[in-house]
Amino acid sequence: MASKRNHLRYSFSLPFSLYWYTGDRQATSKTFTAAAGKNKGGDLISGKRFEAGVDIGATKTALALFDAGTMLAQARYRTDVTLNAQETIAMLAQQLAQLAAQHGGHLSAIGIGAPSDIDYAHCYIRNTTNIPGLAACDLRQALQAYFGPIPIAADNDANTAALAEYRYGAGRGTEDMIYSTISTGIGGGLILNGKVYRGSHDYAGEIGHMIATPGIGVRCGRGHQGCFESYCGGANLYKHVQLRLAAGEQTMMTQWSAAENIDGKTWLRAWQAGDAMAQALLEQTGNYLGLLYYNLYQVLNLDRFVLGGGLTAFGEPLFNQIRAAFRRFAGTEAPAVSFFPAVLGEKAGLIGAHLLLAEKK
Ligand SMILES: [Zn+2]
Repeated sequence: MASKRNHLRYSFSLPFSLYWYTGDRQATSKTFTAAAGKNKGGDLISGKRFEAGVDIGATKTALALFDAGTMLAQARYRTDVTLNAQETIAMLAQQLAQLAAQHGGHLSAIGIGAPSDIDYAHCYIRNTTNIPGLAACDLRQALQAYFGPIPIAADNDANTAALAEYRYGAGRGTEDMIYSTISTGIGGGLILNGKVYRGSHDYAGEIGHMIATPGIGVRCGRGHQGCFESYCGGANLYKHVQLRLAAGEQTMMTQWSAAENIDGKTWLRAWQAGDAMAQALLEQTGNYLGLLYYNLYQVLNLDRFVLGGGLTAFGEPLFNQIRAAFRRFAGTEAPAVSFFPAVLGEKAGLIGAHLLLAEKK
């Protein structure tokens, strides 16, 4: 075994056991290794063949089994951001194999979405902001070491969510839309002519880092001053609270949290309680998002904006602010553009990751 491991770039480093269905359908507990776990063309393992969708997040990773397009089962586990690449992949492989085995089968393909800069053609994660263990990771090679030469697909999670909403959610019925996350950051997944548009380097859709006010405003996590994410991303909210406090405004948010820790939940709670600063921040966010979407409309002539992410919990008041700002910029053009809330919720990532597999066939 040791000599085999040496041939695998992603050799197994975390021993664990699982029930593995063998040819005679008797469950046996074996140590799951990259070599032992290989499907080996299916001759080692019988039972059903499932496709998997995986949604890797900075706090949790969700998995789902699909059979002929139907989601059969889901599981999730906490993403351990302290693991290295081998350990991260080993954990994912274990969870996937376990879920498939629990349902009497094995995996025939795996689609993955991650909050990452991904080389789509090669399933290679160039970089991941919040999960260091996945940076510079060849996902296809790493997972095929466990599951054999099965199809693997991977894409940025904004693209997977866009794909899911386009096919099964709020994007149905149009060919040109954007799915935009309004959360700690501002992201986007573009559907143009009915397909995910990735751009020359698979980097399209990073709409939050378009610059709104050069040289003015706070900086986002990447250091851009005045980008849309610096105004609208929940992670930058506290900077705007601090600016307003320094200008003499007051807010109940500081009663619940230190100014530098104020997040979207505290903001929402204060807004629901009628806090004036929380309302002003909602108007600011809606105005900048309206400007962002208007600019995207001018470039791409999208007719539908599907909005998801934690800050959409503000509901219609945020949507109305966005619509009003959009109309203000559009003026007499008054295009027929729709702003819809995403409808698939957390399942969008799983469904979209699975849809990648069909896209690659
Ligand atoms: Zn930025």
